[in-house]
Amino acid sequence: MEERTGLPVVAMVGGGQLARMTHQAAIALGQSLRVLALNADEPAAQVTPDVVVGDHRDLDALRRAAAGAEALTFDHEHVPGDLLEKLVAEGVAVHPGPEALRHAQDKLVMRRRLTELGEPVPPFAPVEATADVEAFAAEHGWPVVLKAVRGGYDGRGVWMLDSPDEAAATVPELLEAGTPLMVEQKVALRRELAVVLARSPYGQAAVYPTVETVQVEGICTEVLAPAPGLSDEAGEAAEELALRIAGALGVVGLLAVELFETPDGRVLVNELAMRPHNSAHWSTDGAVTGQFEQHLRAVLDYPLGSTATVRPVCVMANVLGGDPVPATGPDERLHHTLARFPEARVHLYGKAERPGRKIGHVNITGDDVDDVRRRARLAADHLATGLWTDGWSAH
Ligand code: ADP
Repeated sequence: MEERTGLPVVAMVGGGQLARMTHQAAIALGQSLRVLALNADEPAAQVTPDVVVGDHRDLDALRRAAAGAEALTFDHEHVPGDLLEKLVAEGVAVHPGPEALRHAQDKLVMRRRLTELGEPVPPFAPVEATADVEAFAAEHGWPVVLKAVRGGYDGRGVWMLDSPDEAAATVPELLEAGTPLMVEQKVALRRELAVVLARSPYGQAAVYPTVETVQVEGICTEVLAPAPGLSDEAGEAAEELALRIAGALGVVGLLAVELFETPDGRVLVNELAMRPHNSAHWSTDGAVTGQFEQHLRAVLDYPLGSTATVRPVCVMANVLGGDPVPATGPDERLHHTLARFPEARVHLYGKAERPGRKIGHVNITGDDVDDVRRRARLAADHLATGLWTDGWSAH
Protein backbone atom coordinates (compact mmCIF):
# COMPACT_ATOMS: atom_id res chain seq x y z
CA MET A 1 0.00 0.00 0.00
CA GLU A 2 1.34 3.39 -0.99
CA GLU A 3 1.22 5.53 2.15
CA ARG A 4 0.33 8.89 0.64
CA THR A 5 -2.62 7.78 -1.48
CA GLY A 6 -3.78 4.65 0.29
CA LEU A 7 -3.80 2.92 -3.09
CA PRO A 8 -2.12 -0.42 -3.68
CA VAL A 9 1.20 -1.19 -5.32
CA VAL A 10 1.30 -4.03 -7.84
CA ALA A 11 4.69 -5.58 -8.59
CA MET A 12 5.32 -7.02 -12.05
CA VAL A 13 8.15 -9.38 -12.88
CA GLY A 14 9.76 -8.29 -16.14
CA GLY A 15 10.53 -4.86 -17.53
CA GLY A 16 9.39 -5.23 -21.13
CA GLN A 17 6.74 -3.40 -23.10
CA LEU A 18 3.91 -5.27 -21.39
CA ALA A 19 5.03 -3.95 -18.01
CA ARG A 20 5.55 -0.51 -19.54
CA MET A 21 1.96 -0.40 -20.77
CA THR A 22 0.67 -1.86 -17.49
CA HIS A 23 2.37 1.04 -15.71
CA GLN A 24 0.56 3.40 -18.07
CA ALA A 25 -2.75 1.83 -16.96
CA ALA A 26 -1.70 1.87 -13.29
CA ILE A 27 -1.29 5.66 -13.48
CA ALA A 28 -4.99 6.09 -14.26
CA LEU A 29 -5.87 4.00 -11.21
CA GLY A 30 -3.77 6.32 -9.03
CA GLN A 31 -0.90 3.86 -8.77
CA SER A 32 2.49 3.31 -10.22
CA LEU A 33 3.69 -0.13 -11.12
CA ARG A 34 6.74 -1.62 -9.45
CA VAL A 35 8.80 -3.65 -11.89
CA LEU A 36 11.52 -6.22 -11.48
CA ALA A 37 13.77 -5.49 -14.46
CA LEU A 38 17.06 -7.03 -15.52
CA ASN A 39 18.45 -3.56 -16.09
CA ALA A 40 17.42 0.10 -15.93
CA ASP A 41 17.22 0.43 -19.73
CA GLU A 42 14.30 -1.93 -20.14
CA PRO A 43 11.08 -0.43 -21.55
CA ALA A 44 9.20 -0.39 -18.23
CA ALA A 45 12.19 0.60 -16.12
CA GLN A 46 12.49 3.77 -18.24
CA VAL A 47 9.05 4.98 -17.18
CA THR A 48 8.21 3.87 -13.63
CA PRO A 49 10.13 5.30 -10.67
CA ASP A 50 9.65 2.05 -8.75
CA VAL A 51 12.24 -0.28 -10.26
CA VAL A 52 13.91 -3.24 -8.60
CA VAL A 53 16.89 -4.26 -10.70
CA GLY A 54 17.44 -7.97 -10.47
CA ASP A 55 17.00 -11.34 -12.04
CA HIS A 56 13.65 -13.14 -12.13
CA ARG A 57 15.48 -16.41 -11.35
CA ASP A 58 16.84 -14.96 -8.08
CA LEU A 59 14.61 -15.52 -5.04
CA ASP A 60 15.96 -12.48 -3.21
CA ALA A 61 15.27 -10.21 -6.15
CA LEU A 62 11.71 -11.57 -6.32
CA ARG A 63 11.32 -10.98 -2.57
CA ARG A 64 12.50 -7.39 -2.92
CA ALA A 65 10.02 -6.79 -5.73
CA ALA A 66 7.16 -8.33 -3.77
CA ALA A 67 7.87 -6.57 -0.44
CA GLY A 68 4.87 -4.46 0.52
CA ALA A 69 3.10 -5.05 -2.79
CA GLU A 70 -0.54 -6.08 -2.86
CA ALA A 71 0.11 -8.63 -5.61
CA LEU A 72 2.98 -9.99 -7.66
CA THR A 73 2.31 -10.59 -11.34
CA PHE A 74 4.20 -11.09 -14.60
CA ASP A 75 5.04 -9.68 -18.01
CA HIS A 76 6.59 -13.02 -19.04
CA GLU A 77 6.38 -16.65 -17.93
CA HIS A 78 10.03 -17.36 -17.16
CA VAL A 79 10.03 -17.37 -13.34
CA PRO A 80 10.77 -20.89 -12.06
CA GLY A 81 7.72 -22.41 -10.38
CA ASP A 82 9.63 -23.52 -7.24
CA LEU A 83 10.60 -19.91 -6.49
CA LEU A 84 6.99 -18.85 -6.84
CA GLU A 85 5.92 -21.66 -4.47
CA LYS A 86 8.35 -20.24 -1.89
CA LEU A 87 6.90 -16.74 -2.29
CA VAL A 88 3.37 -18.07 -1.89
CA ALA A 89 4.47 -19.90 1.29
CA GLU A 90 5.86 -16.59 2.57
CA GLY A 91 2.46 -14.95 2.06
CA VAL A 92 2.96 -13.17 -1.27
CA ALA A 93 -0.21 -12.93 -3.40
CA VAL A 94 1.22 -14.38 -6.64
CA HIS A 95 -1.27 -13.90 -9.51
CA PRO A 96 -1.52 -16.06 -11.49
CA GLY A 97 -0.34 -18.65 -8.97
CA PRO A 98 2.41 -21.14 -9.82
CA GLU A 99 -0.03 -24.02 -10.27
CA ALA A 100 -1.98 -22.15 -12.96
CA LEU A 101 1.13 -20.61 -14.50
CA ARG A 102 2.67 -24.03 -15.19
CA HIS A 103 0.21 -24.39 -18.04
CA ALA A 104 1.66 -21.31 -19.73
CA GLN A 105 5.26 -22.39 -19.04
CA ASP A 106 5.19 -25.94 -20.28
CA LYS A 107 3.51 -26.93 -23.55
CA LEU A 108 3.25 -30.60 -22.56
CA VAL A 109 1.73 -29.91 -19.15
CA MET A 110 -0.83 -27.67 -20.87
CA ARG A 111 -1.73 -30.21 -23.57
CA ARG A 112 -2.06 -33.07 -21.10
CA ARG A 113 -4.29 -31.03 -18.81
CA LEU A 114 -6.53 -29.75 -21.60
CA THR A 115 -6.86 -33.30 -22.91
CA GLU A 116 -7.94 -34.43 -19.43
CA LEU A 117 -10.46 -31.60 -19.36
CA GLY A 118 -11.81 -32.74 -22.74
CA GLU A 119 -10.76 -29.51 -24.47
CA PRO A 120 -9.49 -29.63 -28.07
CA VAL A 121 -5.73 -29.64 -28.81
CA PRO A 122 -3.90 -31.01 -31.87
CA PRO A 123 -2.63 -34.61 -31.50
CA PHE A 124 0.75 -34.50 -29.70
CA ALA A 125 3.40 -36.68 -28.07
CA PRO A 126 6.51 -36.16 -25.95
CA VAL A 127 9.86 -36.64 -27.72
CA GLU A 128 12.78 -38.36 -26.03
CA ALA A 129 14.41 -39.69 -29.20
CA THR A 130 14.16 -39.24 -32.97
CA ALA A 131 12.23 -42.51 -33.08
CA ASP A 132 9.40 -40.86 -31.13
CA VAL A 133 8.96 -38.34 -33.95
CA GLU A 134 9.00 -41.10 -36.56
CA ALA A 135 6.45 -43.17 -34.63
CA PHE A 136 4.20 -40.13 -34.29
CA ALA A 137 4.49 -39.33 -38.00
CA ALA A 138 3.75 -42.96 -38.89
CA GLU A 139 0.43 -42.53 -37.13
CA HIS A 140 -0.43 -38.93 -38.06
CA GLY A 141 1.53 -38.35 -41.27
CA TRP A 142 4.27 -35.89 -42.29
CA PRO A 143 4.83 -33.00 -41.93
CA VAL A 144 4.88 -32.67 -38.14
CA VAL A 145 5.67 -29.76 -35.85
CA LEU A 146 8.49 -30.15 -33.35
CA LYS A 147 8.35 -27.76 -30.38
CA ALA A 148 10.53 -26.90 -27.42
CA VAL A 149 8.37 -27.70 -24.41
CA ARG A 150 9.55 -24.61 -22.55
CA GLY A 151 10.96 -21.18 -23.33
CA GLY A 152 9.82 -20.63 -26.94
CA TYR A 153 8.28 -17.39 -28.17
CA ASP A 154 7.61 -15.69 -31.51
CA GLY A 155 8.11 -19.00 -33.30
CA ARG A 156 11.57 -19.61 -31.81
CA GLY A 157 11.40 -23.15 -30.53
CA VAL A 158 9.12 -24.34 -33.38
CA TRP A 159 10.44 -26.52 -36.24
CA MET A 160 8.38 -27.84 -39.15
CA LEU A 161 9.68 -31.27 -40.12
CA ASP A 162 8.76 -32.71 -43.54
CA SER A 163 10.49 -36.07 -43.49
CA PRO A 164 12.45 -38.63 -41.45
CA ASP A 165 15.65 -37.05 -42.82
CA GLU A 166 14.69 -33.66 -41.44
CA ALA A 167 13.84 -35.23 -38.09
CA ALA A 168 17.23 -36.96 -38.00
CA ALA A 169 18.96 -33.67 -38.83
CA THR A 170 17.13 -31.70 -36.12
CA VAL A 171 16.11 -33.78 -33.12
CA PRO A 172 19.38 -35.31 -31.79
CA GLU A 173 21.17 -31.98 -31.64
CA LEU A 174 18.33 -30.36 -29.70
CA LEU A 175 18.09 -33.26 -27.27
CA GLU A 176 21.84 -33.21 -26.71
CA ALA A 177 21.62 -29.50 -25.92
CA GLY A 178 19.07 -30.41 -23.22
CA THR A 179 15.99 -28.94 -24.94
CA PRO A 180 12.86 -30.82 -23.83
CA LEU A 181 10.79 -31.54 -26.94
CA MET A 182 7.32 -32.52 -28.09
CA VAL A 183 5.84 -33.26 -31.47
CA GLU A 184 2.46 -32.20 -32.79
CA GLN A 185 0.37 -32.75 -35.88
CA LYS A 186 0.74 -29.99 -38.44
CA VAL A 187 -2.80 -28.65 -38.47
CA ALA A 188 -4.44 -27.40 -41.68
CA LEU A 189 -5.26 -23.83 -40.74
CA ARG A 190 -7.98 -21.58 -42.04
CA ARG A 191 -6.55 -18.92 -39.76
CA GLU A 192 -5.47 -18.26 -36.18
CA LEU A 193 -7.78 -16.83 -33.54
CA ALA A 194 -7.31 -15.71 -29.95
CA VAL A 195 -9.49 -15.06 -26.94
CA VAL A 196 -8.29 -12.92 -24.03
CA LEU A 197 -10.14 -12.70 -20.76
CA ALA A 198 -9.53 -11.58 -17.20
CA ARG A 199 -10.48 -13.49 -14.07
CA SER A 200 -10.30 -12.21 -10.50
CA PRO A 201 -9.68 -14.17 -7.27
CA TYR A 202 -13.35 -13.59 -6.49
CA GLY A 203 -14.09 -15.55 -9.67
CA GLN A 204 -15.48 -12.72 -11.78
CA ALA A 205 -14.50 -13.06 -15.43
CA ALA A 206 -14.72 -10.68 -18.37
CA VAL A 207 -13.93 -11.79 -21.89
CA TYR A 208 -12.96 -9.75 -24.95
CA PRO A 209 -14.42 -10.69 -28.31
CA THR A 210 -12.65 -13.43 -30.27
CA VAL A 211 -10.04 -11.91 -32.59
CA GLU A 212 -8.09 -13.05 -35.64
CA THR A 213 -4.31 -13.00 -35.25
CA VAL A 214 -2.35 -12.79 -38.48
CA GLN A 215 1.01 -14.57 -38.17
CA VAL A 216 3.96 -14.36 -40.54
CA GLU A 217 6.74 -16.87 -39.89
CA GLY A 218 5.61 -17.39 -36.30
CA ILE A 219 5.36 -13.67 -35.50
CA CYS A 220 2.05 -11.91 -34.99
CA THR A 221 1.86 -9.01 -37.45
CA GLU A 222 -1.80 -7.95 -37.17
CA VAL A 223 -4.82 -8.51 -34.99
CA LEU A 224 -8.33 -7.99 -36.35
CA ALA A 225 -10.93 -7.34 -33.67
CA PRO A 226 -13.44 -8.87 -33.73
CA ALA A 227 -12.43 -11.78 -36.01
CA PRO A 228 -13.95 -10.92 -39.41
CA GLY A 229 -16.67 -13.23 -40.70
CA LEU A 230 -16.78 -15.35 -37.55
CA SER A 231 -20.37 -16.27 -36.70
CA ASP A 232 -21.74 -15.13 -33.34
CA GLU A 233 -22.08 -18.79 -32.32
CA ALA A 234 -18.48 -19.63 -33.21
CA GLY A 235 -17.18 -16.50 -31.48
CA GLU A 236 -19.16 -17.27 -28.34
CA ALA A 237 -18.07 -20.91 -28.40
CA ALA A 238 -14.41 -19.82 -28.44
CA GLU A 239 -15.05 -17.34 -25.62
CA GLU A 240 -16.77 -20.03 -23.56
CA LEU A 241 -13.87 -22.40 -24.20
CA ALA A 242 -11.45 -19.77 -22.85
CA LEU A 243 -13.68 -19.11 -19.81
CA ARG A 244 -13.82 -22.84 -19.03
CA ILE A 245 -10.04 -23.10 -19.23
CA ALA A 246 -9.54 -20.05 -16.97
CA GLY A 247 -11.92 -21.48 -14.39
CA ALA A 248 -10.52 -25.01 -14.51
CA LEU A 249 -6.91 -23.84 -14.15
CA GLY A 250 -7.73 -21.20 -11.53
CA VAL A 251 -6.17 -18.35 -13.52
CA VAL A 252 -6.07 -14.94 -11.85
CA GLY A 253 -5.30 -11.99 -14.11
CA LEU A 254 -5.37 -12.14 -17.89
CA LEU A 255 -5.47 -15.36 -19.85
CA ALA A 256 -4.80 -15.40 -23.59
CA VAL A 257 -5.88 -18.53 -25.43
CA GLU A 258 -4.28 -18.85 -28.88
CA LEU A 259 -6.41 -20.95 -31.21
CA PHE A 260 -6.20 -22.61 -34.60
CA GLU A 261 -9.31 -22.50 -36.75
CA THR A 262 -9.43 -25.49 -39.11
CA PRO A 263 -10.97 -25.42 -42.60
CA ASP A 264 -14.07 -27.22 -41.26
CA GLY A 265 -14.56 -24.50 -38.62
CA ARG A 266 -13.31 -26.34 -35.52
CA VAL A 267 -10.98 -24.63 -33.05
CA LEU A 268 -7.97 -26.21 -31.35
CA VAL A 269 -5.95 -24.66 -28.53
CA ASN A 270 -2.33 -23.92 -29.48
CA GLU A 271 -0.96 -21.89 -26.57
CA LEU A 272 -1.89 -20.24 -23.28
CA ALA A 273 -0.40 -17.04 -21.86
CA MET A 274 -1.24 -15.62 -18.43
CA ARG A 275 -0.33 -11.97 -18.79
CA PRO A 276 -1.13 -9.05 -21.08
CA HIS A 277 -0.85 -10.33 -24.63
CA ASN A 278 -0.15 -8.99 -28.11
CA SER A 279 -3.53 -10.29 -29.29
CA ALA A 280 -5.31 -7.82 -26.98
CA HIS A 281 -3.21 -4.70 -27.68
CA TRP A 282 -6.16 -3.47 -29.74
CA SER A 283 -8.24 -3.21 -26.55
CA THR A 284 -6.55 -0.08 -25.20
CA ASP A 285 -8.06 1.92 -28.08
CA GLY A 286 -10.83 -0.40 -29.29
CA ALA A 287 -12.58 -1.44 -26.06
CA VAL A 288 -14.00 0.40 -23.06
CA THR A 289 -11.40 -1.14 -20.74
CA GLY A 290 -7.93 -1.93 -22.05
CA GLN A 291 -6.25 -5.22 -21.19
CA PHE A 292 -3.55 -3.63 -19.02
CA GLU A 293 -6.04 -1.97 -16.70
CA GLN A 294 -8.10 -5.16 -16.73
CA HIS A 295 -5.09 -7.17 -15.61
CA LEU A 296 -4.48 -4.81 -12.69
CA ARG A 297 -8.13 -4.90 -11.71
CA ALA A 298 -8.09 -8.69 -11.81
CA VAL A 299 -4.95 -9.20 -9.72
CA LEU A 300 -6.21 -6.61 -7.19
CA ASP A 301 -9.61 -8.31 -7.02
CA TYR A 302 -11.29 -5.08 -8.15
CA PRO A 303 -14.49 -5.33 -10.19
CA LEU A 304 -13.57 -5.88 -13.83
CA GLY A 305 -14.23 -3.31 -16.53
CA SER A 306 -16.48 -3.49 -19.57
CA THR A 307 -14.93 -5.30 -22.52
CA ALA A 308 -17.42 -3.81 -25.00
CA THR A 309 -15.93 -2.51 -28.23
CA VAL A 310 -16.10 1.23 -28.93
CA ARG A 311 -16.30 0.91 -32.74
CA PRO A 312 -17.31 -1.98 -35.01
CA VAL A 313 -13.69 -2.73 -35.94
CA CYS A 314 -10.23 -2.25 -34.42
CA VAL A 315 -7.05 -3.39 -36.14
CA MET A 316 -3.68 -3.59 -34.43
CA ALA A 317 -0.56 -3.72 -36.59
CA ASN A 318 2.80 -4.49 -35.01
CA VAL A 319 5.77 -2.28 -35.80
CA LEU A 320 8.57 -4.74 -36.54
CA GLY A 321 12.04 -3.24 -36.79
CA GLY A 322 12.96 -2.52 -40.45
CA ASP A 323 15.50 -4.68 -42.27
CA PRO A 324 17.95 -3.05 -42.66
CA VAL A 325 17.30 -0.37 -40.02
CA PRO A 326 16.16 2.57 -42.20
CA ALA A 327 18.19 5.67 -42.98
CA THR A 328 15.47 8.06 -41.75
CA GLY A 329 15.28 8.41 -37.98
CA PRO A 330 12.36 7.24 -35.84
CA ASP A 331 11.32 10.82 -35.11
CA GLU A 332 10.93 11.66 -38.80
CA ARG A 333 9.03 8.43 -39.47
CA LEU A 334 6.68 9.12 -36.57
CA HIS A 335 6.11 12.66 -37.82
CA HIS A 336 5.10 11.46 -41.30
CA THR A 337 2.93 8.64 -39.94
CA LEU A 338 1.00 11.00 -37.70
CA ALA A 339 0.63 13.49 -40.56
CA ARG A 340 -0.91 10.96 -42.92
CA PHE A 341 -3.01 9.05 -40.36
CA PRO A 342 -4.21 11.39 -37.61
CA GLU A 343 -6.62 8.65 -36.51
CA ALA A 344 -3.79 6.20 -35.77
CA ARG A 345 -3.04 5.45 -32.13
CA VAL A 346 0.70 4.85 -31.96
CA HIS A 347 2.33 2.90 -29.13
CA LEU A 348 6.12 2.79 -29.07
CA TYR A 349 7.98 0.71 -26.54
CA GLY A 350 11.22 2.60 -25.95
CA LYS A 351 13.24 -0.22 -27.52
CA ALA A 352 16.24 0.07 -29.79
CA GLU A 353 15.49 -0.89 -33.40
CA ARG A 354 16.66 -4.24 -34.66
CA PRO A 355 15.46 -6.00 -37.78
CA GLY A 356 12.28 -7.95 -37.02
CA ARG A 357 12.07 -6.86 -33.37
CA LYS A 358 8.66 -5.74 -32.03
CA ILE A 359 9.25 -2.07 -31.23
CA GLY A 360 5.67 -0.81 -31.15
CA HIS A 361 2.18 -1.14 -32.55
CA VAL A 362 -0.53 0.95 -34.14
CA ASN A 363 -4.25 0.72 -33.42
CA ILE A 364 -6.91 2.10 -35.73
CA THR A 365 -10.65 1.82 -35.15
CA GLY A 366 -13.41 2.22 -37.73
CA ASP A 367 -16.27 0.56 -39.56
CA ASP A 368 -14.79 -1.44 -42.43
CA VAL A 369 -12.17 -4.05 -41.61
CA ASP A 370 -10.39 -4.00 -44.98
CA ASP A 371 -10.04 -0.24 -44.95
CA VAL A 372 -8.95 -0.06 -41.30
CA ARG A 373 -6.49 -2.91 -41.81
CA ARG A 374 -4.93 -1.23 -44.84
CA ARG A 375 -4.38 2.01 -42.93
CA ALA A 376 -3.00 0.29 -39.81
CA ARG A 377 -0.57 -1.75 -41.95
CA LEU A 378 0.62 1.31 -43.87
CA ALA A 379 1.14 3.27 -40.66
CA ALA A 380 3.04 0.45 -38.92
CA ASP A 381 5.20 -0.24 -41.99
CA HIS A 382 6.05 3.43 -42.33
CA LEU A 383 7.08 3.59 -38.67
CA ALA A 384 9.31 0.59 -39.27
CA THR A 385 10.82 1.43 -42.65
CA GLY A 386 10.17 5.07 -43.54
CA LEU A 387 8.51 3.84 -46.76
CA TRP A 388 4.89 4.00 -47.87
CA THR A 389 4.28 0.52 -49.17
CA ASP A 390 1.37 1.75 -51.35
CA GLY A 391 3.65 4.21 -53.17
CA TRP A 392 1.90 7.23 -51.61
CA SER A 393 3.78 10.52 -51.71
CA ALA A 394 3.01 13.69 -49.78
CA HIS A 395 4.24 15.89 -52.65
P1 ADP B 1 5.55 -19.74 -29.87
O1 ADP B 1 5.34 -20.36 -28.53
O2 ADP B 1 6.97 -19.54 -30.25
O3 ADP B 1 4.66 -18.55 -30.14
P2 ADP B 1 3.67 -21.40 -31.28
O4 ADP B 1 3.48 -22.75 -30.74
O5 ADP B 1 2.61 -20.39 -31.00
O6 ADP B 1 5.11 -20.86 -30.89
O7 ADP B 1 3.86 -21.53 -32.86
C1 ADP B 1 4.20 -20.41 -33.66
C2 ADP B 1 3.43 -20.48 -34.97
O8 ADP B 1 3.74 -21.67 -35.69
C3 ADP B 1 1.92 -20.52 -34.77
O9 ADP B 1 1.39 -19.24 -34.59
C4 ADP B 1 1.47 -21.20 -36.05
O10 ADP B 1 1.44 -20.25 -37.11
C5 ADP B 1 2.57 -22.18 -36.34
N1 ADP B 1 2.22 -23.49 -35.73
C6 ADP B 1 2.52 -23.91 -34.48
N2 ADP B 1 2.03 -25.13 -34.23
C7 ADP B 1 1.40 -25.54 -35.36
C8 ADP B 1 0.68 -26.73 -35.73
N3 ADP B 1 0.53 -27.75 -34.88
N4 ADP B 1 0.15 -26.76 -36.96
C9 ADP B 1 0.31 -25.74 -37.84
N5 ADP B 1 0.96 -24.60 -37.56
C10 ADP B 1 1.52 -24.48 -36.32
